[in-house]
Amino acid sequence: MESITKNAISIEKVQSSKIALVDFDNLAFGSVFSDHMLVCDYRNGAWENPKIVPYGPISLAPAAKIFHYGQSIFEGMKAYKDDTDSIFLFRPKDNHKRFNISASRMSMPELPEEYFMEGLKTLLELDKAWIPQSEGSAMYIRPFMFASGEGFHASPADAYKFMICLAPSGPYFAGKVKVLIEEKYSRSANGGVGYAKTGGNYAGQFHPTQLAKSKGYHQVIWTDDHKHENIEEAGAMNIFVRIGDTLITGPTSDRILDGITRKSVLEVAESEGIKTEVRTITVTEVVAAAKDGSLKEMFGAGTAAVISPIAGFGYRDTDYELQEVENSYAALFKKRITDIQYNRAKDPFGWRVEV
Ligand SMILES: *Cc1c(COP(=O)(O)O)cnc(C)c1O
Repeated sequence: MESITKNAISIEKVQSSKIALVDFDNLAFGSVFSDHMLVCDYRNGAWENPKIVPYGPISLAPAAKIFHYGQSIFEGMKAYKDDTDSIFLFRPKDNHKRFNISASRMSMPELPEEYFMEGLKTLLELDKAWIPQSEGSAMYIRPFMFASGEGFHASPADAYKFMICLAPSGPYFAGKVKVLIEEKYSRSANGGVGYAKTGGNYAGQFHPTQLAKSKGYHQVIWTDDHKHENIEEAGAMNIFVRIGDTLITGPTSDRILDGITRKSVLEVAESEGIKTEVRTITVTEVVAAAKDGSLKEMFGAGTAAVISPIAGFGYRDTDYELQEVENSYAALFKKRITDIQYNRAKDPFGWRVEV
């Protein structure tokens, strides 16, 4: 296995930091970037030359395959700062593993763990002052890889870049969302790339999501591509429904991404003695439960929002509203998970990693 030490990462610091220009009390999500970024190259069959440089544009050939064939993958993670300025990551090795699962599906080279973890930690230490501390805020971390090798022939590139950029971010969603159950478009298909965090999956969502927005919804609920009978994901989040007191989410597959928040919610639910079911959720049962009042909650789960409660959904020209519930599962999971992330509670699961 290749290995790097921190000494091997060359560091070119900014001449003057941009941090004074940032209003940390009014941060949007993922739209301000810290002073530095990590860049690492893959050529001749090996990763080399990891370096940290000032955040800024990079130069690529017009024939770079990222532009033509979309070989591009990413991860989304966060760094959290506690009251004493200590910094924590949440299950970061799971992000690294999934990064390589995405890489392999897109015929891209795997990245050794050292490059991912040491690169990330060195970058975070350098831009530590950029990690926000206020409630719900965190440093959003975007590791990504794309084909920089050239050629108009449709085949995997021979050169790639791995990069990490950091975006100090405020809370993701304000308020509850209204969603539309999608029956025409699909996010993913059997045998497809839905389980990979690859760029095209998201580009393909924009148009149907725009259509839903023009009808007054915030997000699309994806159903299976075959018959649109099963509820699969909420936008770029995994979806949970609570019927009665049972928490249900779909099984991961080619089509449903193996979310780290999803599996954390399941583990927290089990530790709280909540009945969980990992099984296919049909649109029919959710509509029936909405009608008879047993549909207590629906929420999305993902790193950016942690938990994103759903206020209601549209299905075939009818809107269904969910009533507020006491003892909300969504609120409980959000509290349990964020308390661990921000080092406000013990971590019986071993998820928190200090930087
Ligand atoms: C990233 C992502 C998720 C959530 O994964 P987390 O690891 O919890 O952030 C769910 N669905 C899709 C389609 C995603 O891209």
